[in-house]
Amino acid sequence: MAQYDADKVRAQLERRIEEIEGTRSRMHAEGDGTQANELADYDQHPGDAGSDTHDLEIEATTDVFLDEERRRIDEALTALDEGTYGTCVVCGKEIPAGRLEAKPDAVRCVDDQRHFEGEHRVANQPPAER
Ligand SMILES: [Zn+2]
Repeated sequence: MAQYDADKVRAQLERRIEEIEGTRSRMHAEGDGTQANELADYDQHPGDAGSDTHDLEIEATTDVFLDEERRRIDEALTALDEGTYGTCVVCGKEIPAGRLEAKPDAVRCVDDQRHFEGEHRVANQPPAER
């Protein structure tokens, strides 16, 4: 029944969390002081997203992606704890082992993930590409 090794998956997810947090602190450290301050200010006022320094927007967008991934990983870890890991949280179908291996943070089948990301993108993304 076990199509995955829980310890191995957990280790992979936890390593990824470390990477995310590393990227996040590196990203904030690399910007000049002004930008870091602006970003901090931006974080405190999520409703006031009108200011659009391009770099700031990219950085904030990257932050959003990292947040999303972090949230996904947390979801996957919770699923591991609850023993539901490996099944889609939306439709309950088994997630193929190959997908779990490629994406250990997958908590949805390919179809539901695509659907989810589509909705998410429309809701949260600035219109970057037209
Ligand atoms: Zn599904």
